[in-house]
Amino acid sequence: MDGAISSWDLSVGVDGPGSRFVVFTAGCPLRCRYCQNPETWRMRDGRRVPADEIMAEIGRYRRFISVAGGGVTISGGEPLLQPRFTAELLRRCHEDGLHTALDTSGLLGVRATDAMLADTDLVLLDIKSFDPATYRRVTGGPVEPTLRFARRLAGLGRPTWVRFVLVPGLTDAPANVDALAGFVAGLGNVERVDVLPFHRMATGKYDRLGLRFPLAGVAPPDQALLDRVHAQFRAHGVVSV
Ligand code: SF4
Repeated sequence: MDGAISSWDLSVGVDGPGSRFVVFTAGCPLRCRYCQNPETWRMRDGRRVPADEIMAEIGRYRRFISVAGGGVTISGGEPLLQPRFTAELLRRCHEDGLHTALDTSGLLGVRATDAMLADTDLVLLDIKSFDPATYRRVTGGPVEPTLRFARRLAGLGRPTWVRFVLVPGLTDAPANVDALAGFVAGLGNVERVDVLPFHRMATGKYDRLGLRFPLAGVAPPDQALLDRVHAQFRAHGVVSV
């Protein structure tokens, strides 16, 4: 079948282990204030491509992504907005012996079937905050579906990396971080938490799209704040990277 994608790219060390072929699907129901990929928000802005075409492209880079435990990451946008397309890509990559990762906010976790998750070697679960009011302020949506999906992944024993974007004055409240760390520590399937420092590198993209970057006036976190947040996760026994 075909699906709407924004682009694909190659990356090393940021979208899962090793060298990755990353498919950026088009369309996202959230509007995170720090989003780095506003060009992926609307599905209709994407390019419709058959899964066959993407698999052929992946084949061309097989050597690159096979070294050092790399693989394929389906990202976005929100891949679970196109669950059948995403499931097909994950299944075919898995059948080809490639490591597979799904990068999702978890908002639409109910759309991921158990079969899809069985084809997913690693879930990159973006938990953008634990406190519901903060989550809504950051994303415009509710946190509960993501937490439910996290618990389901734990029940299924699916390896998961949690990703948390640290924004000074927005997501950095000690109580918010502490509650997230406690939640993650209780899951049992989370191998690590990636604390991603907020940055403003997407400002140019917003300008080109005629959009205003909501956090243009916010500075990235300093080392002291990063150290504090890592320490909060580690205090709960969570590997914080
Ligand atoms: S979920 Fe991801 S793609 Fe969607 S708005 Fe948030 S950061 Fe952007």
